[in-house]
Amino acid sequence: MSSFSLHGVAVSSGITIGKAHLISNALLEVAHYQVPNHLVADEVKRFTNAIKTVKADLKGIHQDLPDTLLGDLGSFINTHLAILSDKSFLDATKKMIREDQCNAEWAIKLQLDNIIEQFDAFTDAYLRERKQDFIQVVERVIKALLGHPSSQFSTNVKKSDDKDIILVAHDISPADAIQFKQNQFAGFITDVGGVTSHTAILARSLNIPSIVALQKARDLISEGEVIIVDGSQGVVIVNPSKEILKQYELRQRQWQLEQQKLSLIKSTVSKTIDGTAIALFANIESQHGIEAIQESGATGIGLFRTEFLFMNRADAPDEEEQFLAYKSVAQAMKKAPVIIRTLDLGADKQANLSNIETANTALGLRAVRLCLTEPHIFHTQFRALLRASHYGNIKILIPMLTSLAELRQTKLLLAHAKQSLAKEKIPFNDHIQLGGMIEVPAAAINAKAFARELDFLSIGTNDLTQYTLAVDRTDSTVAHLYNSLHPSVLQLIANTIAAGAKFGKAVSVCGEMAGDAQLTKLLLGMGLRQFSMHPSQILSVKQKVLQSNINKITKSVNRILKIEDIAKTELQVKELNH
Ligand code: PEP
Ligand code: MG
Repeated sequence: MSSFSLHGVAVSSGITIGKAHLISNALLEVAHYQVPNHLVADEVKRFTNAIKTVKADLKGIHQDLPDTLLGDLGSFINTHLAILSDKSFLDATKKMIREDQCNAEWAIKLQLDNIIEQFDAFTDAYLRERKQDFIQVVERVIKALLGHPSSQFSTNVKKSDDKDIILVAHDISPADAIQFKQNQFAGFITDVGGVTSHTAILARSLNIPSIVALQKARDLISEGEVIIVDGSQGVVIVNPSKEILKQYELRQRQWQLEQQKLSLIKSTVSKTIDGTAIALFANIESQHGIEAIQESGATGIGLFRTEFLFMNRADAPDEEEQFLAYKSVAQAMKKAPVIIRTLDLGADKQANLSNIETANTALGLRAVRLCLTEPHIFHTQFRALLRASHYGNIKILIPMLTSLAELRQTKLLLAHAKQSLAKEKIPFNDHIQLGGMIEVPAAAINAKAFARELDFLSIGTNDLTQYTLAVDRTDSTVAHLYNSLHPSVLQLIANTIAAGAKFGKAVSVCGEMAGDAQLTKLLLGMGLRQFSMHPSQILSVKQKVLQSNINKITKSVNRILKIEDIAKTELQVKELNH
């Protein structure tokens, strides 16, 4: 058996070695046959029964979801249930069975092809990826029609072997992922998916090594072949040689040892060798699973991306629903800070909220711009946030600020929301802190003005890198050009931290840079004292904090900031870690 490697997008780190188990792709196996006239009504019935079976199946999975997975997975399953209730989709399929006298599997597959064509016409990456939801639902319906077990993995996988099984699929739906979770597979890899795909989000919440966007893994890998999944590098090695296998077994043991060591510092106070306290906060996307956040060692919420409450649903959450979500996080975190960002919709995050069309979603009407254009959205969210502020330590964060004019309009709307609550005698924290995301170069260059007018700043390095380098963060064809260590990006970050220091305002980084332990010393040396990241990254960043001596690294970092070349910067950052 020849050895080869595949490269994809790493979405959940760790190294795993096991045997491949191929997940069948029902869509590729659909046959086409004619149904005799007198059996057409039965065929329609067979179709509606299959829809009912899948719906019941998904509802059951949703009901059994533990609270920790409800946020990430619950909304995806709701999306799938909504598709199964889509009248025009169901009616069109039934009509085709009747008119063409074809089998139900064939009719639903042709309907899917039509829908895929429409989705492919979207220029927006996020919307294009949503076609996967339709594909996953239809796949499940076809399996029900064919009488396949509802679970994706076949019964020939022995339970005792599960921990050594690596699932190889064209795609994995949220419902399948839950079943995988229950069976504790060693890892999974898929042909499709991108950074914003559901699979990527799920993989992180399941915490097992996984790689997406491998293109042809499902075709190239055979059942039972030994594979190595390096979820940190995005590499899959199939049929490794003895030497490679040995190397990876060693790396896997090192990784496991490292994880065990990290768990020992869970309750250690986060401060540097010279005694500087460093706040390590968590980024969250919903009010669910806060216990897991506290378990992770985070001492606050540094970024609650509230737009996720608005996505994957037909209507927007009203004031009461938002209030309850924010309040539950504030209460669960007790007195710890909870920084809640107002809607950052647009670009790769879309919802059914506004009818306004924008040509370029990344540079168009997104985030604060959208909220200022549709002030009722802002007003509702401000009222919900203010009401919740009575129950904990909530701070408000505004995304995508570019000019002071936007900030002033925002402040007026916040004051208006306060007035309306005061009139109704509803309690809220009148001194609630207001912060701004610094993620557009214009704001980073003019950071002093924002530091003067706001209570705190939070640097969104994901967008700051995208906008500074003119590299779309969702486009894999230019992914090699996306690098937050570009000297221009570093200078903008340094400028923002300096502005905060000048006006005595807290500055944090809440983009991906904050969670990359290889960059912790660099950011500390630049003067950063607050980091917010995915909860799974907190301990590895804390370990770096505990090993850092601010005085020592500041001098080296000042030298790094003078370098004009990315390659040299990367080298020096590596040295900083040794
Ligand atoms: C960022 O841009 O760095 C950020 C934290 O916001 P988001 O990733 O949600 O755009
Ligand atoms: Mg951003």
